[in-house]
Amino acid sequence: MRSKKDEPCTHHWLLESPEGGAVRGRCKLCGECRVFNAPPRRGYGAPARTHSA
Ligand SMILES: [Zn+2]
Repeated sequence: MRSKKDEPCTHHWLLESPEGGAVRGRCKLCGECRVFNAPPRRGYGAPARTHSA
């Protein structure tokens, strides 16, 4: 049996300031922490994972 609790989180990442080429983000929804590669230029853009429409 599978519980329905397994539904994927859409992850609303709150990004901190980029540090050393990496940006730490924390999901506002599930509290997961994750490190993203900081975009080389152009400021922030979307993190590696955007929720697909
Ligand atoms: Zn999440």
